[in-house]
Amino acid sequence: MLSAKNIISYKAPANHLSDRVILITGAGDGIGKAAALACAKAGATVILAGRTTAKLEAVYTSILADNLAKPSIYPIDLEGATEEDYLALSASIEQQFGRLDGLLHNAGILGQRTPLNNYSMELWNKVLQINLTSQFQMTQCLMNVLEKSTDASIVFTTSSVGKIGRAFWGAYAVSKFAIEGMVQTWASEIEDLGSVRINSINPGGTRTNMRAQAFPAENPYSLATAEDIMPAYLYLLGPDSIEVNGQSIDAQIR
Ligand code: NDP
Repeated sequence: MLSAKNIISYKAPANHLSDRVILITGAGDGIGKAAALACAKAGATVILAGRTTAKLEAVYTSILADNLAKPSIYPIDLEGATEEDYLALSASIEQQFGRLDGLLHNAGILGQRTPLNNYSMELWNKVLQINLTSQFQMTQCLMNVLEKSTDASIVFTTSSVGKIGRAFWGAYAVSKFAIEGMVQTWASEIEDLGSVRINSINPGGTRTNMRAQAFPAENPYSLATAEDIMPAYLYLLGPDSIEVNGQSIDAQIR
């Protein structure tokens, strides 16, 4: 595995992801949008998943305008999606591509920044559903198409508040702690490394709508952009990380 410093400055070789099919959730905005564009530029065929079709269409148009591999759009709301929906997604990937080489679980919501004593049960359930349970279920249902790849990479998204508890981060922090634990558990169950690997990425403070919602008084220009943090994503989603499994990788060092 590359050193932390080499991961954040990783330069993907030309056509690094050519012939790879990569599904990205929350691909219409923020980090997910940057990841979709970066993967397409590196040669991947990207499946753009998310809840706002108009945003996914804008990313789709921009990929086509750059003459990159034709992406596909898969509208899905992770709050309400059921096992049936994920099985339909799997069947559609199988039919269209025959396999899945990369799965980036990027979509997430912040919930409310408030003491746990006051946290509403309804919001707690919603945050855990979108940030954790849906991702578990989607991964389970897509495992058959991932196992058809010779080298599949599953990447979950964590956060620094999912490593050390911090006041007022509520269900969001708990969901990210759970992601870290799920990645470790799942990765340690993998018997045939090289076929499917599972890691997580911590973007670090990044200039997006979610960050602005969490820190409204912060100067956004003091932060990395979503494009700045793409080297770690390209590393984890590409063949150079084939030996990396069960790791929590930082996309920036601040
Ligand atoms: P944004 O809020 O900018 O983007 C979140 C994306 O998730 C959007 O595309 C959104 O879709 C999608 N999404 C939200 N809810 C659902 C849902 N129910 N179904 C499907 N898609 C949904 O956030 P970021 O880009 O900042 O965050 C991306 C990931 O990075 C998250 O997991 C976040 O926790 C993590 N992260 C971000 C950090 C940062 O500083 N930005 C730091 C640490 C972690 P839509 O646009 O349609 O609402």
